[in-house]
Amino acid sequence: MRSRALLVAGGVVASAVAVSFGVASSRLEDSILQAEQVAVDERAEDAVGWLGDEGAALVGAARDYAEWDDTWAYVRGESPDYLQTSLTPETWPNLRLERVLLATPDRVVLAQRWTEDGAVALTDEEARHLASLDGGAAGWGLVKSPQGALMYATVPVTRSDRTGADGTRLVFARRVDAALPAAERLARSALVLVPPEGAVAPAPAGRVVGVATVSAPGASGWRVRAEREVRPPTAALQALVAAGLAVGGFSLLTTLALLDAFVLRRLVRFTTELAAIRDGERRRLSAEGDDELDRLGQGVNDLMAHLDVAQARLQEQALHDALTGLANRTLLHDRLEQALARARRSGRKVALLFVDLDHFKMINDHLGHPVGDRFLVSVAERLRVGLRPEDTVARVGGDEFAIVLEDLATLDPAVRAADRVLQALRVPIVHAEASYEVSASVGVAFSEPDSTVQGLLSAADTAMYAAKQSGRDRSAVYDAAMHGEVMHRLELHRALRLAIHNGEIGVWFQPIVAAADGQLVGFEALARWLRPGVGPMEAGGFVAIAEEASVVAELDERVLELALAHFAPWRARLPRLVLTVNQSARRFDLHDLPARVRSACREASVPTEALILEISEVLHGPNEARWKEGIALLAQSGVRLALDDFGAGCSSLGRLRESVALLKLDRSFVEELEAGREEVACAVLGLAGTLRLPVVAEGVESEAAAARLRELGCAWLQGWNFAPALPPEEAAQWVIRAAARPPA
Ligand code: C2E
Ligand code: CA
Ligand code: CA
Repeated sequence: MRSRALLVAGGVVASAVAVSFGVASSRLEDSILQAEQVAVDERAEDAVGWLGDEGAALVGAARDYAEWDDTWAYVRGESPDYLQTSLTPETWPNLRLERVLLATPDRVVLAQRWTEDGAVALTDEEARHLASLDGGAAGWGLVKSPQGALMYATVPVTRSDRTGADGTRLVFARRVDAALPAAERLARSALVLVPPEGAVAPAPAGRVVGVATVSAPGASGWRVRAEREVRPPTAALQALVAAGLAVGGFSLLTTLALLDAFVLRRLVRFTTELAAIRDGERRRLSAEGDDELDRLGQGVNDLMAHLDVAQARLQEQALHDALTGLANRTLLHDRLEQALARARRSGRKVALLFVDLDHFKMINDHLGHPVGDRFLVSVAERLRVGLRPEDTVARVGGDEFAIVLEDLATLDPAVRAADRVLQALRVPIVHAEASYEVSASVGVAFSEPDSTVQGLLSAADTAMYAAKQSGRDRSAVYDAAMHGEVMHRLELHRALRLAIHNGEIGVWFQPIVAAADGQLVGFEALARWLRPGVGPMEAGGFVAIAEEASVVAELDERVLELALAHFAPWRARLPRLVLTVNQSARRFDLHDLPARVRSACREASVPTEALILEISEVLHGPNEARWKEGIALLAQSGVRLALDDFGAGCSSLGRLRESVALLKLDRSFVEELEAGREEVACAVLGLAGTLRLPVVAEGVESEAAAARLRELGCAWLQGWNFAPALPPEEAAQWVIRAAARPPA
């Protein structure tokens, strides 16, 4: 930029000087030409003036002779030697006379050139001129002759007292061409007399021509042509112009030099410095002064400082989780990479803990995302407790966290860290005066010398998964076998999802009978996975998988529909027949469950009072409050509920009393009863009696147990002693048989 600017400015100055010089010279030449023209015109006028003077002088000289008595006498023939005495040879050059004429109106008395004697014939021009003259007045005129222009002065001849004029005239002729050089000195010009019929020659190159008209009566039409050389502008003038331009050019160049020193050079330096900064050098623009450029530089420095801060902030944001401030997945990968590299050098180990919160989705869904976020922040704080500063804690998903522990010699510290995490999370989190328990499943994986980041992550993930499967709220350390199990499990998830979608889910029915007389009172619908080529799979084998794969709600919905469809005609035959259908706790999360259930009944033409939904007392979780609310809603809507597996769970009966219509005594107590330990069964049945709740005993496998339960006041019985879960066709036979049997 700088060299270009200097080059351009230099070029502009140089051409400006050249153009100015040319223009100034030509203007100078023009004005000189004008001045010369004025001068030469004046010279021509001067020459005309000079001619007038010359004419007047010649007329004066002629008058001396014309008013002289000797001349008068001569004309009268009275003074024959007049010519010898009066017009002596000296007279001619003295008066510069070319010719003398003396004429009466009718004849020429004397016509003489000074070198010749005697009369001389008049030329035509002379004759015309004389003829044109007014006989009475003196005057002068110009006549063309072979010798050049002749000036004729004519004066009437009189006596010395000026009397006796009779038309006789004395004429003196003088060559004015010869006299013009004198005028030329005066005018410093070449002067030429041009006769009336002659043309004025144009000015030759390098000269100017001026013309003035002679105004004397005898010379009318004559002009004086003056010619003069044009002097070119003098070197001095040119030098003056050149000097002026040189001063101008110099000051411009000085300005340029100053501009260069104070601005351009510094701009070039700024550019170089900026290029260095762009190439990664950490420096500032050198701008220590206080002028505009310095301030510009300081402005750029400030801007770059701001950019640095913003960049650092962006980097921080790019590598950290916005909610918890923990490292994000990207940073975790980075740290793991470095940790593995260090471990390879040191021969020590890296542990990766993968922490997945149990049932966190429910917190989010039921308490709202802002509460869920506060929950996660509090979890993040707890995860950091007990770790070394160099350990990395990252949030890698909604409710998934990872912890990297480095520089381990044995596995113990990592296992202890996993326990610490579980312990820390078990402390309930309080929100809106209710406390929520959060638990997590933790997978622990250790590095091998050839571990990759991806390998370690997937091992920890697998271990976490195994921990979840073995009941959550625990940790599992990865081993090679785990991988196969987990893969198998994942394959099952996929297959079950497809099965629900493809209609491979069927329903079997287990009869429930009256304890008193063995009469059929209803059926429990139990899901069966009708896998092609495998045979029906019992619900116990896949319901947990459906829970894990989060498809249990769809499963329940499907089973309810199918069960109602089969049950409708049976109920038509036995109007007091009851259908119980198992529902997972997840279903109670649905606000619209009562509406769905009622519409399913309507669709199957089964009255709602024929349906009892079984909910397991073993169910628990952070959303307990929520599903209890759902249960209450259902009960209010007229759908009856049974408390399944009663006695085996955490006895939520107290709180569910209002909603529950039926208790299902858990099979384990019936088993105990059969083994002779009947305390719990008695207590449960006693409690049910007090609450006036009917009880179904589950898993009744023998007649003895049935008899004992009957004695203890159990109303209904269910179990292999009567029938296992039956395919719909066989259950239909039960209905037909019961319908045929007369009521007891
Ligand atoms: P549950 O509700 O306690 O169902 C009774 C289970 O005990 C059934 O197993 C049944 O076949 C079995 N059983 C019945 N009588 C006897 C007996 O005398 N002795 C023994 N040892 N077992 C007996 P199943 O069908 O494998 O169901 C297992 C569990 O799966 C059920 O326990 C229930 O909690 C769940 N389940 C079944 N169907 C569904 C369903 O459609 N949705 C949901 N969410 N869960 C279901
Ligand atoms: Ca059940
Ligand atoms: Ca049960």
